[in-house]
Amino acid sequence: MDAREEQYAPALDAARDHAVRWLRSLDERPVRPQADADAVAATFGGDLPEDGCDPAAVVDLLAAGAEPGLMAMPAGRFFGWVIGGTHPAALATDWLVSAWDQNNALRYASPATAALEEVAARWLLDLLGLPAGADVGFVTGATTANFTCLAAARSAVLAKAGWDVGADGLTGAPRVHVLVGRERHETVDLALRHLGLGSPAVVDVDDEGRIRTDALAAALAAVPEGSPVVVCLQAGNIHSGAFDPFAAAVGLAHERGAWVHVDGAFGLWAAASPSLRHLVAGVAAADSWATDAHKTLNVPYDCGVAVVADPTALRTAMGMRSSYLVADDTGPGDPHDKVPELSRRARGVPVWAVLRALGRRGVADLVDRLAARARELADGIGRVDGAQVLNDVVFTQVCVAFEDDARTREVIARLLEGGHAWMSGSRWRGRHVLRVSVSNWSTDADDVRRSVAAVRVAASP
Ligand SMILES: *Cc1c(COP(=O)(O)O)cnc(C)c1O
Repeated sequence: MDAREEQYAPALDAARDHAVRWLRSLDERPVRPQADADAVAATFGGDLPEDGCDPAAVVDLLAAGAEPGLMAMPAGRFFGWVIGGTHPAALATDWLVSAWDQNNALRYASPATAALEEVAARWLLDLLGLPAGADVGFVTGATTANFTCLAAARSAVLAKAGWDVGADGLTGAPRVHVLVGRERHETVDLALRHLGLGSPAVVDVDDEGRIRTDALAAALAAVPEGSPVVVCLQAGNIHSGAFDPFAAAVGLAHERGAWVHVDGAFGLWAAASPSLRHLVAGVAAADSWATDAHKTLNVPYDCGVAVVADPTALRTAMGMRSSYLVADDTGPGDPHDKVPELSRRARGVPVWAVLRALGRRGVADLVDRLAARARELADGIGRVDGAQVLNDVVFTQVCVAFEDDARTREVIARLLEGGHAWMSGSRWRGRHVLRVSVSNWSTDADDVRRSVAAVRVAASP
C-alpha cells in the first residue's frame, strides 16, 4: 500500500463493512429506533477528548454507538412522512462523490461532475415532461427547490413590473401577491418567508386537497390590476397524493400574467409513468417546478431539484450578479448559477447513476410499483376492523382513520411500538389519521403483507 492508501483504506473498509451490516439488518430489525437522541448523545458525549484516534477506530466507535438510535428509514416497511430509500447505484455513487471531493461550483474546475449533472438534468426534464430549455439546479431538497424557484419567480415578476430586486432590494418594491392552495406543503410558506414575501393568500381546496379553480379565479380577480402575482400549485398532496388541476389552473394564472410554481416534491414523478402521467396533465405549462430526488427516485440525502423554464430568471436570482440585466442565460452556465450555494458536493451525480441504472422503463416501473403498493396497502388496511381509508388513492399516499381520534392515536402508538412497520400520525380534514407513504424502491409484496398484518394486530381489541 502506498502512504495515502494506508491513510484511507482501513477507514473505508470499516465503513463498507458497517454499511453492509446495516443494510443486511433492514429486513429483520425493528423499524423504530431503540434509543432516543439523548441516549445516543450520552454514548458519544463527555468533553471533547484531548487526544485523537485513528480514522478506522472512529468509524467503529461511530457505528457501534449510533446503531440503537438509527431508524430503519431505508427499509421496505418504512412508510413515514414521504421518505425514499436509497438505490444501490445511487448509494455507491454517493460514496464515490465524497471520495472525488469535487467542489462542484464551476464548470471548468470540476468538468466531470458538472457534465454528469448536466446530463442528469437533461434526462430529468425528458422523464418529467418539462421544457427541454429549462434550467436545473441540484439543491438539498424540495424546501430549497421551492425557495430557489420562488426566488426566480420574485425576480421575474418584479422585473416585469419595472423593479430590479437584485439591484434595489424589496424595500419600496411593488407588493408581490402570492396565492397558494389551502393544503400546500408548509415549506412553500417557509420559502416565501425566506424571500421576504410574507404570508401567502390562501385559496380553497376540494375534498382531496386540490386547489379549486373557481376559488383561484376569484382570488386572482381580487389582486389589483398590474400587480406582480405568483401562484403556487401542487403535484402530490402529502395526505391524499392528489394533484391540482394543472391545465385549468395554469391557464387562469397565466391569463392574469402570474408566474406559476409547482411543488411536486414527489408527485411530479407521475410524469415518468405512462399509466400515471394523466395526473400531471398540463403541468409543463408552468414556469417553475420543485421536486426531490431523495424521495421517489431513491437517491441518498440530500438531493432536491429546482427547475425553471426561463434560465435568465433562475440565473438572475441565483448567479453571482446583482442585476436582472447582466445575467447570462446562454450556454449551460456554471453549477453555482442555478443554486443558492457556491461550494457544494456534486449531489446530482447519484441522480445520473440511478437514471442510468434504471433507464426510462425502470423509472416508470419504479413509480408504478410505488403506486401499486399504496393501493394494496389501502385495500389491506381498509379491511381491518374499524379502519376507513379517507382518500382516493391515486398515487403513493394513503390516509386511514379508525372509529375516533383517540382510537386512531392508540392504533398508531401500538403499531410503532410493535416495530414491524412505521407510518406517520397526522391530521387531515379535521381528523387524526394514520398516513402511509410508499416511497421506497424496495417495498415488495411481502412488506405489504407484513405491514397490513402489523396494522391488524395494532388495531385488535
Ligand atoms: C417533502 C416535501 C417537501 C419538502 O421537501 P424536503 O426534501 O423535505 O425539503 C415539500 N413539498 C412536498 C409536497 C413534500 O412532500
